[in-house]
Order: sequence, then C-alpha cells, then structure tokens
Amino acid sequence: MTTARAFFDDLHGKSALVTGASGGLGLHFARLLASHGVNVTLAARRIAALEGACRGIAEAGGAAQALGLDVTDPTSVSAALAERHFDILINNAGISGAGRAADLSEADWDAVIDTNLKGVFLVAQAAARGMRESGRGGAIVNIASILGERVAGGVSAYAASKAGVIQLTKALALEWARDGIRVNALCPGYIETDINRDFFATEPGQQLVRRIPQRRLGRAEELDGALLLLASKAGSYITGTSLAVDGGHLVSSL
Ligand code: NAD
Repeated sequence: MTTARAFFDDLHGKSALVTGASGGLGLHFARLLASHGVNVTLAARRIAALEGACRGIAEAGGAAQALGLDVTDPTSVSAALAERHFDILINNAGISGAGRAADLSEADWDAVIDTNLKGVFLVAQAAARGMRESGRGGAIVNIASILGERVAGGVSAYAASKAGVIQLTKALALEWARDGIRVNALCPGYIETDINRDFFATEPGQQLVRRIPQRRLGRAEELDGALLLLASKAGSYITGTSLAVDGGHLVSSL
C-alpha cells in the first residue's frame, strides 16, 4: 500500500507572483500560497500598499516580498520580470469598470481591456519566458469570472475582457504545454470582499444573491481548493480549462 501524501505538498519551496495583491482576492491568494510554503512576490502599482501585507506574511512564518508592477505597461512588466523566475503566476489584477454600454467612454473601455486582458497576456508572456528558461515549467492561473461565460447588465467591457481571458487561457495552454507550462482560468462567482460588501447589503444586492442557486455569496476561502489544485502538482494533467467556483450561478435557471 502506498502512503497517502498530502495534496499540495509540492508547493513547498516554490516561488509565485501574485498580481493585484494589495487587497481583496489577490492578497488572500498570496497569504494562502505563503501558508503552503511558497515564496510569494506580491505585485501592485504602489509598493507602499504591499509592504504591510508582506510584513504580515513574514510574521505568520511565510516568505514574501513586494514588487511594483503596472500590468498595463509593457515596460513595467518587462522590467519587473526580466531577472525574476517564478514557478507559479496568479494573474489576478483586474478592474470592474461598470456602466451601461451606450454611455461607456472609450477611455473606460480601454482601461478595462488593458488591465483585465492585455495585462493578463503581458504578465503571462513575461512569466512564461522565465518558466521556460528555468527548465522547470510552471503553472499559470488566470483569474477570470463567471461574467466571462454569461452576461449581466452594465458590465459589457468587463464581460468581454473576462471572456477574452478564458479564450486566451486555452490558446496559451495549447502553445506552452510542450514547455511544461500549464495555463488555467479560475472563474469566481460573486465573492464577498471589502469592496462589494456594502452593495450586497442593499435590496438590489440581495435580489442578485437570490438568483444564485446556493442563495448566498461565496467567501474568499471557498476559492482555495480550486486555486491550489490549479497551481500545484495535484493539477498536473489539467491545462486549458476554466473552473467556476460560483455556488451554481452559471447553471441558474434561464
Ligand atoms: P480588488 O479591486 O480588491 O483587487 C484588484 C487588485 O488589482 C487591486 O490590488 C488593484 O490595485 C490591482 N490592480 C488594478 N489595476 C492594476 C494594474 N494596472 N497593475 C497592477 N495591479 C492592478 O478586486 P477583487 O475583487 O479582489 O478582484 C481580484 C480579481 O478577481 C479581479 O481580476 C476580478 O475581476 C476577479 N473577480 C472578482 C470577483 C469578486 O466577486 N470579488 C468575482 C469574479 C472575478
């Protein structure tokens, strides 16, 4: 009989880059990986916003450092990743950019597409270069959304960007499989964070919650199993997929 091995043990000693890690889900993912022995680099535009988070991870016994990075800026991305190799990339930085399509300005459209789609591509491309050079390959997890699969009112640019992320994930998985690089998308449903808590307490927010088959919002920690699966050897034969964690929202009744 073989001894049962703990899932995700291989993460210990690996290195990861988490973009948009100054708060919300990115910070949660960085803490999660650090608690599994991953040396985590937290990236965001303002390094000062990351330093407290890195100290907190170090105090909890983890290893973390801050990196200034604007995912929309190719110069910033190549400078940040030129000398750094990561085993894992969590492509999490994103903005919402809500507004009715008829009133959406070109600048708002560009901001959402540049951050959510071009940013994911630029960082994946630069990180994959390092994964290839190291000879160890790696795992890329793109944080998409259930709005990449279905739509709602007022989120045209966001939904288009996230649908692009899902399709980009498949294209990169196909091209990079031979380099030992796996690329998958994680599609969260509505997850309660500091940013949306107030909205979900309102009547329109509660109406939305009632349309989720499980009749509740998700919690950040309910993404942990999926993220660790896609980032670790437990997911070694999984590439090009998008995994929804949404309380059944995508299968809600039409
Ligand atoms: P958030 O606003 O709390 O975090 C987004 C992070 O991205 C912030 O740290 C922000 O500083 C960073 N960021 C924005 N633009 C950047 C840029 N140009 N360069 C570098 N960093 C940048 O939002 P969140 O809810 O934690 O969302 C994280 C990811 O999860 C996003 O991609 C979002 O679309 C996705 N998502 C969230 C939910 C949810 O319910 N919270 C659901 C589905 C998908």
